[in-house]
Amino acid sequence: MSPQPRNLGELRRSPWSEEKIAQRTVRQELRENLLAKMEKGEALFPGVHGYDDTVIPQIVNALLSRHHFILLGLRGQAKSRIVRGLVSFLDPQVPVVAGCEINDNPYRPLCRSCRERIAEEADLTPITWLSRDHRYVEKLATPDVTIADIIGDVDPIKAARAGKNLADELTIHYGLLPRANRGIFAINELPDLAGKIQVGLFNIMQEGDVQIKGYPVRMALDVLLVFTANPEDYTARGKIITPLKDRIGSEIRTHYPATVAEGMSITAQESWTSRDGKRRVEIPEYVREVVEEVAFQAREDKRVDRRSGVSQRLPISTIENVLSNAEQRAVRSHDSAVVARIGDVYAAIPAMTGKFELEYEGEMRGAENIARELIRAAVGKTFTKYFASANFQSVVQWFEMGGELKVPSNASSAELLGQLKKIQGLFEHLDALGVRSKDDAALQASAAEFILEGLWAHKRINRSEERGFFAEARKTPEPRDPREPSGRAPRRQFN
Ligand SMILES: [Zn+2]
Repeated sequence: MSPQPRNLGELRRSPWSEEKIAQRTVRQELRENLLAKMEKGEALFPGVHGYDDTVIPQIVNALLSRHHFILLGLRGQAKSRIVRGLVSFLDPQVPVVAGCEINDNPYRPLCRSCRERIAEEADLTPITWLSRDHRYVEKLATPDVTIADIIGDVDPIKAARAGKNLADELTIHYGLLPRANRGIFAINELPDLAGKIQVGLFNIMQEGDVQIKGYPVRMALDVLLVFTANPEDYTARGKIITPLKDRIGSEIRTHYPATVAEGMSITAQESWTSRDGKRRVEIPEYVREVVEEVAFQAREDKRVDRRSGVSQRLPISTIENVLSNAEQRAVRSHDSAVVARIGDVYAAIPAMTGKFELEYEGEMRGAENIARELIRAAVGKTFTKYFASANFQSVVQWFEMGGELKVPSNASSAELLGQLKKIQGLFEHLDALGVRSKDDAALQASAAEFILEGLWAHKRINRSEERGFFAEARKTPEPRDPREPSGRAPRRQFN
């Protein structure tokens, strides 16, 4: 390829000719590049999981329609990742007038200084190149954001120095939106933006002009506007002004992962679990499932505030803490391998409690207790998945005959394994978890502990802080409850 043009004359004779670039808006550019990517079959939003049939097709439609759009969703639904991912649909580089604060298109300069410069220097007007990463501007809306922040301000000092009238464009100190000219401007939590700024945005989208401190300023900006909002704020409080809402071409709803498996792949991608120590590190699949299931349980729990949602950051932070607890134990007890256990999930409660808001009933119970109950329910559900038809009668019997097992939280794998081996019939079930008798102690101990935790979750055996796992001694002989021919305690159903 020929070297990049350095001035307007070279630009005219290059592939970035006036014919090609002058009329090409950002939204047209996004549309063309998106079409090209789809034709090549490229991944559109790498790293975004679970949206292939729902959110992504709607975003594609919005972009093909050249719409400004809004993503509506609760926290932790990858909204920011999607919005930032739009940058990959921009050209690698675009030409701009050198030194222009608002990235003026050399063929269509907006600001007066560029217009004057081009009139004066003509084909010798210098050009610089803007990479796509510099064409993305993001702002979190808060009530104290001002018109000056977003759109701009008239600068009296600049005006005085230049001897200009205040309304002259040369005196404007540009805000974030004009600086995003020829790029993507994202505003997160749009309803938190003051009404008069929303009006300003609307005016720019509608008419290309806006008033700053009473002075009309013309700004026919070329941007893609993308917003995000929490649907509760958006509909219930209605804080997006109607004319602005009306100008947002598409309204796209995001969602949490639909299945535990989808959630697990997001969590695996986003969490730091490779670690850097000398030990082999492993988080068994059932532990990952339990962690993910905690988030699913929380999202359905009536005691957890649904309007604020339960972010995907809950399982992400939790799995990191789970592994850290396993790491801590392995190092202290000089185990050679770091293998996570269900006990580590309980130790990771500090990574959970800040990630959900509680309703009144939940507040009364306390975040930590709620977290424990969520974990227990998650263990129960995961356990059922692996052991729907397994018979644990002999294990339960061992406890009913007076067996007790107290697992110190820092016990080494070998120690724990030695204890667990005493329980009749327990180890024959490890197969269902893919664990074999030749596997190392850490893996076997983790799997066996999961089974005991599962039996406790289903109330087949007891567990307490002081005694560990145990069972009330069976009172025999005693007439059985006719509704329970098997003589088992009723299984608690988890949904
Ligand atoms: Zn300019």
